[in-house]
Amino acid sequence: MNIEKIVSLCKRRGFIFQSSEIYGGFKAVYDYGPLGVALKNNISKIWWKAMTQHHENIVGLDSAIFTHPKIWEASGHVGAFNDPLVDCKQCKARYRVDELSTETNPDWGKMTCPNCGSKGSFTDPRQFNLMFKTSIGAVEDDSSIAYLRPETAQGIYVNYLLVQNAMRLKVPFGIAQVGKAFRNEIVARNFIFRTREFEQMEMQYFVQPDQDDQSLNEWKDQRFSFYSQLGIDKNKLRFKQHGPDELAHYAKEAWDIEYEFPFGWSEVEGIHNRTDFDLKQHQEFSGKKMEYFDPVENKRYLPYIIETSAGLNRMLLAVLSNAYWEDTDNNRVVMRLDPKIAPVLAVVCPLTKKDGLPEIGRNIMDFLKKEFKVIYDQQGSIGKRYYRQDEAGTPFGITVDHQSKDDQSVTLRHRDTQHQDRVAIDQLVNAIKNKIGEF
Ligand code: ATP
Repeated sequence: MNIEKIVSLCKRRGFIFQSSEIYGGFKAVYDYGPLGVALKNNISKIWWKAMTQHHENIVGLDSAIFTHPKIWEASGHVGAFNDPLVDCKQCKARYRVDELSTETNPDWGKMTCPNCGSKGSFTDPRQFNLMFKTSIGAVEDDSSIAYLRPETAQGIYVNYLLVQNAMRLKVPFGIAQVGKAFRNEIVARNFIFRTREFEQMEMQYFVQPDQDDQSLNEWKDQRFSFYSQLGIDKNKLRFKQHGPDELAHYAKEAWDIEYEFPFGWSEVEGIHNRTDFDLKQHQEFSGKKMEYFDPVENKRYLPYIIETSAGLNRMLLAVLSNAYWEDTDNNRVVMRLDPKIAPVLAVVCPLTKKDGLPEIGRNIMDFLKKEFKVIYDQQGSIGKRYYRQDEAGTPFGITVDHQSKDDQSVTLRHRDTQHQDRVAIDQLVNAIKNKIGEF
C-alpha cells in the first residue's frame, strides 16, 4: 500500500491538510482538520489515561515551550543535538547519514542516491543543529536567544522536585506530559512521520539507580501492549535496540518501538534509560541541588530516569496506516478505526428528506449526542453517505426509513461487515454499546 493513498484520503475527508496550501504549501508542516484533531485528541486521551489514571504514582505536567536557554546547554542539545548530513553532488538531495547506512550496508558513501541513482556522489558529512532559535524581548542580541524546545522531557526534569514535593511522591514515580516539540529536520518526509513541529507524549519515570534495568524492562512491556488499545495489529510492531554507535549522548540503553508503515519499519516511540545524566547536568549548570530525599533510607541521591517518549503524530499515522482497507469486493475504502478512537461514532441518515423522516432523525440525534459523537447527514444517496463515512472511519450508520414511522425502529449498520440490524429506537444506545465490543 502506498502512503499517497492515505495522504489523499486524509485531505478528502478532513483529517490532515498541507499547511498554508493556498500559498503553495509550507514544507513538512501539516494542519489537522476536523477529523484529524478529533482522532489525535482521542489517541492522546487514551495515552494520558494509561499514564495518569492507571498509575497512582504518575502525575501530569504542562511545562512551557519557552525555557531558560541554559536548559539546552545543560541537556547537551546546544552542543550535540546534531545530525550529520550529506548532499548528493548530482541532484542536491540531502540525507541523514544514519538513514543512508543500513545494517547490511554500513558503508553509505558507496551507495546510490535514492533520488537520482548516482553512485557514490555524496559530499562529506556536515553537522547540523536541529534546534530552532528565536529571540525574546525588544533587543535582538546574544542575551535574548531562546530555543523552541526540541523535546518535552527537559521541562519535566527541571520541575521534578517541585512536582515531587507538591504531590508528596516517593520514588519510583512518573511525570507525564503531552506537548509540542520542534526540530529543524533537514530531511523531512513521509507525510506526518517526520515534521518540524510535532507533538510528543512523554513520561519520565524516576527510579532508584539500581532499579533502572528492571524498570526499563517493565516499561518496554507496558508500552508495547499499549498499542492494542488503539486497535493496532501487534504483528506490525517490533522492538529495535539501539546499537552502541546509535545511542544518544544521555542513554545507557535504548529501544525503539517500530511500526511497519507503508514506507517500511520506522520508530514510533523510544524507551530510554537516561540514567542520572540530565539531573546531574542541571545540578551542575543551575548550581541547585537536584537530589531526591528518600525518607525510608534516609539518604539523598539523584534518581535514574526511564523515559518513554512517543510521537503523537507518528502514532496517529500508525493508526491511519493500520486502519486503511481497500474493500475491493464492494469497491470502497474503509478506515477500520477502533470505535474507542474513531472521530465520529455514528451517522444518522434519514432515507429521504420528506415524510417526517428528518424529524425522527433529529430526535435520535438529540439523545445520541449526549452519549456519543454523532453526526447527521441527509445529503445524497444512502450508499454514498455510507461510503463517505466508511472513509471517515465511522463505525455505525443509523438509517431512518418508512418502517421507522410505523414501529419506531431504525437500521443499525456495521461499518466493516455492512451488516444491518433492525433496532428499536429506545434501545439504540444499548445496541451501540454492545456492538462496540464486536470491533
Ligand atoms: P528519529 O530517529 O526518527 O529522528 P529520534 O530517535 O530522534 O527519532 P526521539 O528523540 O527519541 O526521536 O523522540 C521521541 C519520539 O518523538 C520519536 O519516537 C518520534 O515518535 C517523535 N519524533 C521525533 N522527531 C520527530 C519528528 N521530526 N516528527 C514527528 N515525530 C517526531
